Amino acid sequence: MKKDYEMMDNNLEGKTALVTGGSRGIGAAIAKAFAARGASVAFTYSTSSHQAEAVVREIEERGGVAFAIHADAADAAAATSGVRTAVEKLGGRLDILVNNAGVAQHGPIGSLPEEAFERQVDVNVRGVWYTTSTAIEFLSHGGRIVNIGSFFSERVPYPASSAYGMTKHAVAGLTKGWARDLARRQITVNTVQPGPIATENNSDEGERAERIKASVPLGRFGRPEEVADLVVFLSSPTASFITGANILIDGGLMA
Ligand code: NDP
Repeated sequence: MKKDYEMMDNNLEGKTALVTGGSRGIGAAIAKAFAARGASVAFTYSTSSHQAEAVVREIEERGGVAFAIHADAADAAAATSGVRTAVEKLGGRLDILVNNAGVAQHGPIGSLPEEAFERQVDVNVRGVWYTTSTAIEFLSHGGRIVNIGSFFSERVPYPASSAYGMTKHAVAGLTKGWARDLARRQITVNTVQPGPIATENNSDEGERAERIKASVPLGRFGRPEEVADLVVFLSSPTASFITGANILIDGGLMA
């Protein structure tokens, strides 16, 4: 009898994937979605070890393969060795890299603490660069890189978000350059740009959330699983001619 994932579109059976920041939120949903389609998954985390273990357990209970690796994306050496450990655990091969780990700290220029600026650059930009430059040593011909940007990769539609917006614009820029650099290996590179997604990092309850919902044409926050489905599509053989694209999934917010 066919297993569930063999009947699904976007089958990833036999593929290996690394997701940065997979212990919670969007990254956890991506790791689970990959595993549900048959991929072996490694993911990193920086502090949430219990949540990371819970994600591994959930995947294993459903018959999947998952490894959690402690690696702070803000630390270039740790990010690099995290990729090497992941590849080792995945059997020496890597087909898919998702740069998801990211932090958002808001405040206008003049008030945003220096550490908040530095942290966002370290995790959201340097982490993506060092993770990817190590991962491409191992990425297979026809591999996939999906970067998680943001609707802040397109514009900066709210105040007090210049630093976060700058880091997410950087991700969109890296995506376009890498799409060209890696095309000869048939590796595609795309950015998924979520709008407001309900995670621990961005609650969909309370007064602030209601204001955000009012600005989203579809009138709600997205779910991490909805973002994960788009990442799965871009990581699958079906998406072989999409590269260098920055794709919004935002309920119409940037329309
Ligand atoms: P969460 O805060 O819910 O989860 C972040 C994940 O990244 C956690 O697993 C966390 O692990 C990990 N992480 C954070 N910092 C590091 C680090 N230095 N090294 C390794 N792992 C790290 O965030 P979201 O799921 O909401 O966001 C995921 C991505 O999506 C980010 O890039 C974010 O910018 C982007 N995004 C999110 C939106 C939203 O509305 N939620 C909207 C647009 C974009 P740990 O707890 O162990 O640190």
